Amino acid sequence: MGLPRQILLLGPPGAGKGTQAKRISQHLNLAYCSTGSILRVEEQRRTSLGEEIHTFLKDGNFVPDALILKIVQNWLQAVRAEFVLDGFPRTLAQGSALDQFLAESHRPAATAVYLDVPMDILEERVAHRVGCDPCGNVWPRETAPVACPECGNAVVSRNDDSIDLYRSRLAEYEKKTLPLLPYYEDGDRLRRISGQGSPDDVFARVLDALAS
Ligand code: AMP
Repeated sequence: MGLPRQILLLGPPGAGKGTQAKRISQHLNLAYCSTGSILRVEEQRRTSLGEEIHTFLKDGNFVPDALILKIVQNWLQAVRAEFVLDGFPRTLAQGSALDQFLAESHRPAATAVYLDVPMDILEERVAHRVGCDPCGNVWPRETAPVACPECGNAVVSRNDDSIDLYRSRLAEYEKKTLPLLPYYEDGDRLRRISGQGSPDDVFARVLDALAS
């Protein structure tokens, strides 16, 4: 049997979901969607939707399910391809809406990859990372390029990576996203791996886990 081709990444902020999701999408030729990038780009455009998004992101809170579901369903309908989702679902309501959407579109259910990283490593990573929002690329500050090699945009720190905001985001994750682990485990759709080590090491584990 081949590897799953509808995949989502779960894990706390800083676990490396974006890095691994991008690698999976390139390796398996899957469409890539980062909900965090879509939200930040809209926020920076200062549209009325962007202003609404800002009221949640500025405090490290999740945006409401209805808002993100509309964004992701539009994306899935427009792309009509197999995919990797980075940062979605983040709540049980989002997880069951995704299952329902895929079932109604006669598409296979998605497989979840959970990246497990200890707390002290997470904070360290987030404090030292910079990235490119539209593309979702991130690098440790010390080795980052000045401009993103994919799109040429400046590589910058994310506003919500400050330590206080990071802790609010983590609290949201623990309260609202952790319940998704048993949800996917029950359906035997959870692949749990250690997110520690180099991106290459983690990616090798991801491919092994997807093949299992
Ligand atoms: P990320 O880049 O995935 O860490 O997302 C950055 C921020 O965007 C999160 O801390 C949330 O505030 C918001 N966000 C991203 N994806 C979702 C989602 N699926 N549901 C609710 N809020 C989200």
